[in-house]
Amino acid sequence: VEESMRQSEKLSVIGELSAGILHEIRNPLTSIKGFLQLMEASSEVHTDYMEIIMREIEQIERITNELLYFTKPNRERFTQFDLVEIAQETMTLFEGQALKQQVAIKLTSSNHHHFIVGDRTQLKQVFVNLVKNALEATAADGKITIDLSSSAHHEHISIRDTGEGMPKQVFENLGKSFFTTKQTGTGLGLMVTYSIIKNHKGKVIVTSEEHQGTTFHVIFPSINR
Ligand code: ADP
Ligand code: MG
Repeated sequence: VEESMRQSEKLSVIGELSAGILHEIRNPLTSIKGFLQLMEASSEVHTDYMEIIMREIEQIERITNELLYFTKPNRERFTQFDLVEIAQETMTLFEGQALKQQVAIKLTSSNHHHFIVGDRTQLKQVFVNLVKNALEATAADGKITIDLSSSAHHEHISIRDTGEGMPKQVFENLGKSFFTTKQTGTGLGLMVTYSIIKNHKGKVIVTSEEHQGTTFHVIFPSINR
């Protein structure tokens, strides 16, 4: 009985979101099908249709990638790991894009190591999503700083950018599923990020000023608490 309860709870959590997700995936699929039918009906090569089809496929790809780590955390997968390592891996991941955009990404940390306990893959995704957003908001000659510090009972992560910042209307909608201001955005990154942080008993505080920049502060309980 207990097992089936847990199963039905799980299903209702999935249900809240799935209608939206299925909708977001069905739209590009419908468009792909339509253009393929048009192409089938004529003998010419339609590179413009091909471009649309490719764009729609890429959107489905983005949505599925963003949702890959949107799962309930498995306590058995929890290990102790170093946030410094995760930050470095994230910087390596975005090295190319940052260079191309002429944005500097830098890491500062109060200690050599900042250990926490959790699902490492999910925590890495938090860094990836926040740095990705920071890069997408920051123009040439801008700067992104990842800072790690500790207090008595907490580990603090801040990811600060000198980018475009956000108006009130955007700020108030952060983390809502499918909320995006980007042409090729999914509006799923922050929703997944917030859910992972919550599942690790963490907190998020955002400060942002238009045309000045944005900082995401993420706070987790220390391991020895
Ligand atoms: P997406 O990146 O696909 O748009 P997200 O959930 O990651 O979806 O972000 C939602 C929205 O929040 C973005 O479209 C953007 O408007 C805003 N946003 C997030 N991070 C930043 C940032 N660092 N600077 C400015 N705006 C941001
Ligand atoms: Mg994003």
